[in-house]
Amino acid sequence: MKEGIDFIHLYMNDKKLNEKSLIKWTDWRWQIKNSIKKIETVEKILNVSFSEEKRKKLQETIDAFPMAITPYYMSLVDPSDYENDPVFKQAFPDTRELKKSDAEMLDPLAEEKDSPVIGITHRYPDRVLFHVSNLCAMYCRHCTRKRKVGDKDSIPSKADLLKGIEYIKKHTEVRDVLLSGGDPLMLPDEHILFILDELTKIDHVEVIRIGTRTPVVLPFRITNKLIDSLSKYDNLWINTHYNHPKELTYEAKTAIKKLTGVGIPLGNQSVLLADINDCPRIMKKLVQKLVHFRVRPYYIYQCDLSEGLEHFRTSVGKGIEIMENLRGYTSGFAVPTYVIDAPGGGGKIPVGPNYIVSWSTNKVILRNYEGVITTYREPDCYKPALCDLNCTDCNLQFKTDTHHTKEVVGINKLLADYDDTINLTPVG
Ligand SMILES: *Cc1c(COP(=O)(O)O)cnc(C)c1O
Ligand code: SF4
Repeated sequence: MKEGIDFIHLYMNDKKLNEKSLIKWTDWRWQIKNSIKKIETVEKILNVSFSEEKRKKLQETIDAFPMAITPYYMSLVDPSDYENDPVFKQAFPDTRELKKSDAEMLDPLAEEKDSPVIGITHRYPDRVLFHVSNLCAMYCRHCTRKRKVGDKDSIPSKADLLKGIEYIKKHTEVRDVLLSGGDPLMLPDEHILFILDELTKIDHVEVIRIGTRTPVVLPFRITNKLIDSLSKYDNLWINTHYNHPKELTYEAKTAIKKLTGVGIPLGNQSVLLADINDCPRIMKKLVQKLVHFRVRPYYIYQCDLSEGLEHFRTSVGKGIEIMENLRGYTSGFAVPTYVIDAPGGGGKIPVGPNYIVSWSTNKVILRNYEGVITTYREPDCYKPALCDLNCTDCNLQFKTDTHHTKEVVGINKLLADYDDTINLTPVG
């Protein structure tokens, strides 16, 4: 660990490592082996000494929710103002994590309730979440699955993985599989490729996505060998998790460039975090830097109701204010969707400013980002095709395929021409 601390000190002082040390530093396994798990190591790195009481409380916190910080991620911390540092705050425990609030839940997204077999969460009609790992390079303090990650008992076994794959095979409606965890890229290359190969063999799986934070906290995980292997999957997408412009470093850029270089589309999911990125200017900088690196901002999440996250949560209004400051002010494709993942397992619900001011039979009154109020006049002659789901006889050309279903659910059921339902009644 002494070596790890020395390396971090060099980086913190803007000095470079010599060639031999650099080989170690950029080896992801070295980073994991030297991952920071003790409070006293952080004290040494930052050259601070916590009071006995604080140390005890911090220890209690990491006994409840483990700490692990890669030396690379730690080296981004500004030691002169570490307490306000966005990197430090995402990585280092806060004793407020032990505080329980009334609103919090152990499994706020009901991922376990919606789980037909171990490891699979099947909430949406055409896609599933597949938990293939419960390890992470760094344990984010704001993690939704805090109770699960790092827990040795929930490491998925090969038999568990096969059960998940079997489930996907049987469910022909699943066209999109999201590999999640923990972090799927914490698995050895062979395991990742095994899962990808098995999923590729399933005809109805059209898209595979990997959600990983390694490009943020362990960019060296994106090795040339891994890239070489991933390049052969032509339906693979990767979603990463940058929360602050400070995380978009030279190393991050290098990892991103390798991924985009073999044609893997990248998206980014951020979490809105109090005292870290709850600022329209920080968020604008973040999304602009992301698109500069060719990563498409995908979602901004409202922080979940998981236990121990209250000090990270913001009001919803803050998120809407951020969206108000993005749309119009920067490139359209740099604007993510702000979502609240519905407690109890309702899925992601988009929220944002209202742009429709009013409506009449043929006019829509809108306002733009600057507050200009305008009128859109609807056509007098528009006659939409009345849909009876009989696509063969319809003027709109649509060759239906096997995925086409006549079943309609939710609000769509109320809108459909071919369904007489007039209200939705909650059951259970
Ligand atoms: C987020 C999520 C998905 C994917 O949702 P998209 O909006 O398609 O990105 C799928 N299943 C579950 C359970 C999820 O939480
Ligand atoms: S990488 Fe994801 S799953 Fe892992 S600790 Fe961070 S937020 Fe949680």
